[in-house]
Amino acid sequence: MSAGADHGFETRAIHAGQPPDPVTGAVVPPISLATTFVQSAVGDHQGYEYGRTSNPTRVALEACMASLEGGRRGLAFASGMAAEDAVLRALAGSGEHVIIPDDAYGGTYRLLARLHAPAGVDHTAVDLTDLDALRTAMRDETAVVWVETPTNPLLTVVDVAAVAEVARSGGARVVVDSTFATPYLQRPLALGADVVVHSGTKYLGGHSDVVGGVVVVGDDELGDAIAFVQNAAGAVPSPLDCYLVLRGIKTLAVRMDRHCRNARAVAELLAGHPAVERVLYPGLPDHPGHAVAARQMRDFGGMVSCTLAGGEEAALRLAASTRLFALAESLGAVESLIEHPARMTHASAEGSPLAVDPALVRLSVGIESSVDLDADLRAALDALA
Ligand code: PLP
Repeated sequence: MSAGADHGFETRAIHAGQPPDPVTGAVVPPISLATTFVQSAVGDHQGYEYGRTSNPTRVALEACMASLEGGRRGLAFASGMAAEDAVLRALAGSGEHVIIPDDAYGGTYRLLARLHAPAGVDHTAVDLTDLDALRTAMRDETAVVWVETPTNPLLTVVDVAAVAEVARSGGARVVVDSTFATPYLQRPLALGADVVVHSGTKYLGGHSDVVGGVVVVGDDELGDAIAFVQNAAGAVPSPLDCYLVLRGIKTLAVRMDRHCRNARAVAELLAGHPAVERVLYPGLPDHPGHAVAARQMRDFGGMVSCTLAGGEEAALRLAASTRLFALAESLGAVESLIEHPARMTHASAEGSPLAVDPALVRLSVGIESSVDLDADLRAALDALA
């Protein structure tokens, strides 16, 4: 079978864009390695010419993601950063302006500050939970309002529909980095966004074995503009990488349900522990974005951050002393990870307005037994007291 818009999310995650192979009947898409495709006369081919421009395994991933996000077109890239770069190149040129969250992922900030700013694209970091601040920051040249929700690593939740209304009235496009939420938990296009971007390295792939990125757009013109950059700049994923992300997506719904359940338990453990100063998890009723998250997300996700009462020293000790929560960068896979954003994932933001509190620790809660996760974290926290 193949899956259409009338099928449920879980069905489309497994089947959309992936009908059985018409030649062999294989139920999963072949990893199509050919870099070039034969033409019976000049320009007369079966939809494929050259591997950078298009590839059957990549097209399966792109179609599946377009279906899951409710968009017109998906576009796959070699990494989340390559996806972000292509979107920015397509939407914001020299003399134009981009608004980003004041706690955007460090790599997004670096991309704008170090690559796009020297090419003439200005940017302003704004607290996007403050709509008046957004209105004030909008300029005639603002081409893009870049949303990330929930944010990495502070788990700030942004009201996509409200931001989209302000951005649209100022003539700007809205891009949402939905890496933390995945299309299972939130659908930004339905909330008014123009473009969704993902690091496919995280929950979509889900097994810490592939780097990739995906863009989904709501209209064909935008799709053509980003596809032009995809082909012209050529930051495309390999067919094997596309296959791995596609395979990960098949179990996205069941994994996310478990990630969310385990993360909630971790957030509750942290909230009740004296070594912890503050827990950042949108599922906790006292989180400032709880009401918006409850409205725009199916559940609250698998990421939890906290600050330690003992400051940076305690944060570094905690990160080094858990056993099941492995000390490592990245997030969103089946195994639980812990990290220190100020010195690891967000070191590129040091000294900038987006620098991260050194007392902060970020947890990517995996899908192991919640009893084991609780015991691991509790022992490491108790040792701090
Ligand atoms: N966006 C977010 C929210 C991320 O957390 C990351 C990576 O951590 C990226 C984008 C970049 O993705 P990649 O590492 O696949 O290039």
